[in-house]
Amino acid sequence: MAPKRLPPQLHVFVRDWLSANHVVLKSRDGHVVIDSGYVRHAPLTLALLASPRGLGAEPLAWLVNTHCHSDHIGGNAAIARKYGCPIAVPEGEAPLVERWDDRALLLAYADQRADRFRVDRALVAGTTQVWGDLEWRLLAAPGHDMGALVFYNPEHRILISGDALWEHGFGFVMPPEIEPAALPATRATLEKIAALDVSVVIPGHGEPFVDVEAALERAFRRVESFEADSQRIARHAVKVILAFTLLDRQRLPLDDLPEYFERVGIYRDFNARFFRRPASDFAAWLVGELARSGAARCEAGYLMPA
Ligand SMILES: [Zn+2]
Repeated sequence: MAPKRLPPQLHVFVRDWLSANHVVLKSRDGHVVIDSGYVRHAPLTLALLASPRGLGAEPLAWLVNTHCHSDHIGGNAAIARKYGCPIAVPEGEAPLVERWDDRALLLAYADQRADRFRVDRALVAGTTQVWGDLEWRLLAAPGHDMGALVFYNPEHRILISGDALWEHGFGFVMPPEIEPAALPATRATLEKIAALDVSVVIPGHGEPFVDVEAALERAFRRVESFEADSQRIARHAVKVILAFTLLDRQRLPLDDLPEYFERVGIYRDFNARFFRRPASDFAAWLVGELARSGAARCEAGYLMPA
């Protein structure tokens, strides 16, 4: 089991696909938490952090984010309110958060939410931070999010990977027609990770894992399939965004979906650009795709998580 390889001052709260995992790094010099989950489940995030495996009753010195998507920053405001702690985000993300760029942060544009928070420090790729008495190299990890960072500790060979690498895949990538740099950056980031000596990966979602080579192989295969077909990237993106919204809302009325897909920017734009279907066809197709993939089911007029 991976946690055996993790030092005792590091604890991972494994969450789900709506909320990213939290990494707690404890030190007499001040505790640090990485990533805060989705806003809907901020009360659970606070409860976990206050538990004995988290911070207990102790203060929090810094809240840090791997990248600024809603499932990683949704609890930031609540944590900052409770602990009065400063927040550090990757340098490339800081301006987006400062101006609360709804589209770049994929919030209302993707029908997602996060409470607004203040950035106190920008984390710069190439620098080293000491969190939990461990040295962490901050490495640029563009792809799923062009401003993302991963955190690497050479001593214990731990990689905190955010959504740049999961045991089975990585966070959805924008098609080349939308963000030409995203897919090449995804490949380059995986190559950068492959060149590191890593014994355990703490991903943004899912349990920590040790078979890094197999995970990289799967990730490279996915990149290859995406490189061969940008329609496939677009299909994958709208599917995972809708699956995420289903986890958030728990159910969406099937009859409302055509109007919903015309109203929510990312579906409207992707349909216009990649699929070019009438709204009702697009809705029927996407519902079918989600049901076939096992991520959702239709029941009593609603689309629900499977
Ligand atoms: Zn995520």
